[in-house]
Amino acid sequence: MIALSLAEIAEVVGGQTHDIPDPTVQVTGPVVRDSREAGPGSLFVAFAGERVDGHDFAAAVVEAGAVAVLGTRPVGVPAIVVDDVQVALGALARHVVRRLGATLVALTGSAGKTSTKDLIAQVLQRKAPTVFTPGSLNNEIGLPLTALSATEETRFLVLEMGARGIGHIRYLTGLTPPKVGLVLNVGSAHIGEFGGREQIAQAKGELVESLPSEAEGGTAVLNADDPYVRAMASRTKAKVIFFGESDEADVRAENVRLTDTGQPAFRLHTPSGASDVTMRLYGEHHVSNALAAAAVAHELGMSADEIAVALSEAGSLSRWRMEVTERPDGVTVVNDAYNANPESMKAALRALVAIGKGRRTWAVLGKMAELGDEALAEHDAVGRLAVRLNVSKLVAVGGREAAWLQLGAYNEGSWGEESVHVSDAQAAVDLLRSELRPGDVVLVKASRSVGLESVAQALLESG
Ligand code: ATP
Ligand code: MG
Repeated sequence: MIALSLAEIAEVVGGQTHDIPDPTVQVTGPVVRDSREAGPGSLFVAFAGERVDGHDFAAAVVEAGAVAVLGTRPVGVPAIVVDDVQVALGALARHVVRRLGATLVALTGSAGKTSTKDLIAQVLQRKAPTVFTPGSLNNEIGLPLTALSATEETRFLVLEMGARGIGHIRYLTGLTPPKVGLVLNVGSAHIGEFGGREQIAQAKGELVESLPSEAEGGTAVLNADDPYVRAMASRTKAKVIFFGESDEADVRAENVRLTDTGQPAFRLHTPSGASDVTMRLYGEHHVSNALAAAAVAHELGMSADEIAVALSEAGSLSRWRMEVTERPDGVTVVNDAYNANPESMKAALRALVAIGKGRRTWAVLGKMAELGDEALAEHDAVGRLAVRLNVSKLVAVGGREAAWLQLGAYNEGSWGEESVHVSDAQAAVDLLRSELRPGDVVLVKASRSVGLESVAQALLESG
């Protein structure tokens, strides 16, 4: 982070200083919430959780070199005391990003935020120093912590913003006001919590409402292929550019195909030229993510050739997203167990079939969470799609959602033994261990809460 004195931090967050002999001492970073990450120059943010109270680690972090603790009570070591740590952290982030020379890029959407954020970071990195959200730390705590990790050298700050309700994105953009705002899609993730797609669109669109006007340099980057996102153009004062497969998009893909190895390839068109992309990532849904990243990079001054090279070399920076690993015995495991929603389930099934061309393919799938009233229909549809795509075997793992997956498959085709329903991850592992043959390709995917990565890990260990 940029160096700030304790006195300045206390003023910015409206806090009281306690046990601070010298308020001119500077915090040089990082700002951490995990006591194990505290080191020389750092500021430790003490949250009082249900099980652990960060304040209990105050002495330990100072011992490790931390300059002070930001908390809600004096702790016997240098501390800045506030009423609400989260609000203070936000205020500090807001103060710091104002002083940075970096361009802030924020993105949101129902699916693909982390994948796209990773792509954007890898493309922009080639042009100038870039700081970006690690993993999926996209909430009111992770976002300011990421922003505070930027330094004077940082030119681009790429921030993933998650929304679980109306007003969330507005709050986040208030902390770190972006100049470029990207909305990927409005799908059905968390639809149960939101109440419907209109509400999801309302919430995600807060990102483009927050942007500065075109005259002040604001740009909204919108998905032309998603009607809910396209409609957000009327909710912003910023310049609007569209990406997508549609011909009207400013940044678009032509001749989209999957290579023999199942990776997407296409010709990228931007307003400054055209260039060929062959991705290292798997799954056709990454075409849309890549176009989104290309649109951002174009807006920030990169040529089509530069962008195409960067996209072709980009890998996944985050775990359990379409990780393709071949075991020594020739079984290929596709670990996409990070999360699932209807869109990503369908994309992953198509990727499985492309990767497994001519081989035996297994879809080991679990529940897609938070679908509310649409849960039955969506699980049924995924089961049916597995049959239509000619996936060789479906292993549905878990409770009633898994039963719906299997039933969908059963009803779509004359599928009997091709689809099985097992109660839990261990049962799936046992089944696969005895059934897998060299050359088989296994996709593992479900919502985060199901924890199916344990299946992928067990399969890789037993190879
Ligand atoms: P979270 O809300 O959990 O942070 P996210 O929006 O960051 O999720 P990712 O982590 O990038 O999304 O991807 C989640 C899942 O969605 C993965 O299984 C991935 O394969 C899939 N996915 C990625 N991009 C898309 C897309 N454009 N459309 C549909 N599914 C996608
Ligand atoms: Mg994410």
